Order: sequence, then C-alpha cells, then structure tokens
Amino acid sequence: MNSDMNETVEADKLKHSCENHQKCMEMIQAVLDGSATADEMEHFKTNMSECMPCIEGYELENSIKEALKMKVEKKCCPQSVVHKIKSNLGIALVLVGMVFIEIKLFHLIF
Ligand SMILES: [Zn+2]
Repeated sequence: MNSDMNETVEADKLKHSCENHQKCMEMIQAVLDGSATADEMEHFKTNMSECMPCIEGYELENSIKEALKMKVEKKCCPQSVVHKIKSNLGIALVLVGMVFIEIKLFHLIF
C-alpha cells in the first residue's frame, strides 16, 4: 500500500459533523479532568482520530485548561496589575472624598 492512498482514506474517515457532540464533549471533559474510565479513554482515543468537531473541541478545552492552570500557578500578580489596582483604588478614594465634600458643602449652604 502506498502512503498517498493511505492519507486519502484517513481524510475520508474524518467526520465533519458530530451526531453525538454533547456526549463527546462530556467525554472530552472527563478525559481532561482525569476522571475518565478506561472505557471512556478507549472510546476517546478512537473518537479523536475520526471526529473533526471533537478534535477541535478537545483542543479548545485543553487550551482553556492550560490557560487556567497558568493563572493558578502564577499566584503572585505582576507588578503592573498591582499598580493598576492601586491607582483604581486611588480614583475610588478621590471619588468618595468628592462626594463627602459635596455633602459638607450642601450642609453649609442650606
Ligand atoms: Zn464527536
């Protein structure tokens, strides 16, 4: 068998729509969570080589998971974020102060 022919067969096997996508996504999430059973793992492996929406779904879920992991691991805020929070707090304090002054003026005038 030559490899060109093999590739054509592989592409034809790939499903472009998933008739059972909800179920597939549940399975994908179980696999990513590490809570999948051996049966689910087996089904997942088969599915991932032939179901296009599931491959895409898996990649999306996986990248979200990776991003969340990065966020959790980076416990300490970058300096710029700390600075931004501080300046926002400053603005909030100024606004509160202004309201306070307005109330005082209001009392003085009336
Ligand atoms: Zn699927």
